[in-house]
Amino acid sequence: MGAATRHVGLDLGATNLKWVVLEDADDGWAVVASHQVPTRIHAEEARVPDDVTGQLTEVARAAIDSWGPADSIGIGVPGLYDPATGTTRFLVNLPGPWAGHPVAGPVSHATGVPCHLINDARAFGLAELRLGAGRGASTMVGLTLGTGIGGVVAVGGEVHQGHDGTAGELGHQTIDPDGPPCGCGNHGCVEAFARADRIALACGTATAEDAVKAARAGDEQAIAGLREIGGYLGIGIANMIAVLSPDVVVLGGGVAAAGDLLFKPIHDEVRRRVRTTSLDQVSIVPAVLGTWAGAIGAAVHGAERASAGVGSAAPAPAVAS
Ligand SMILES: [Zn+2]
Repeated sequence: MGAATRHVGLDLGATNLKWVVLEDADDGWAVVASHQVPTRIHAEEARVPDDVTGQLTEVARAAIDSWGPADSIGIGVPGLYDPATGTTRFLVNLPGPWAGHPVAGPVSHATGVPCHLINDARAFGLAELRLGAGRGASTMVGLTLGTGIGGVVAVGGEVHQGHDGTAGELGHQTIDPDGPPCGCGNHGCVEAFARADRIALACGTATAEDAVKAARAGDEQAIAGLREIGGYLGIGIANMIAVLSPDVVVLGGGVAAAGDLLFKPIHDEVRRRVRTTSLDQVSIVPAVLGTWAGAIGAAVHGAERASAGVGSAAPAPAVAS
């Protein structure tokens, strides 16, 4: 019997900063606290990275003050980062000069707790893999449907990070060489066809959430729109199934709540395209951890890095200041 350990997970979003305290005990993971605060976006763009990093430190300290000592901190960031230095490279939807900005080091230094970064979509996937819809899977593919489309791949029961934490960007696979422009700079990515504003456009509604409501209420255009979007997602998912032969494909984000209105066209497209493996052993299912998945996955990542003996990017001081 090992002693239970506690881990803080932070999920940095453009609107909200969510956090959880996760306990790792003999009987598994348990969320002991969760909360969110508005992300502190300063009007002056140049100040945002310092302000937000300060807020991450404050939130982590407050969580530790309220819920006891933590063994690790994990931070999910909405974009690209350097795992070796704990600095950000580029964050989506967050203003400011984030290139080379230290985040893990300052948070670790201020709290005296080892801190590690992870991409927010990979954090979502890690949470679903350990505690959610992908539990027990060896090979998993995950997609988060939102403003953009995040992706994650797990192989051998571990989230595959690639050499720089960017592996699993399923939303940025090309599915039409002449397709519309994507925010990443490419053309014809899955995201360029199936991100939230495209769903709203295809369904004739103001937002993707409204599209789901309208389709559920029987609106013909919304139903046809979700069928079209499901077809695009199905192409991307079929590619991943052909490459990875996963046990499970997990779909997260608000639109995944559309149920069969989205999942049926995805299944149809996947059945049309995948000819190399039996689909009877591939489940395509909605995520189960909801809005806290990113923070939970960040906490799991911090815990697993700490237990693997990986130190912080910047060593914590012997005596916390
Ligand atoms: Zn793209």
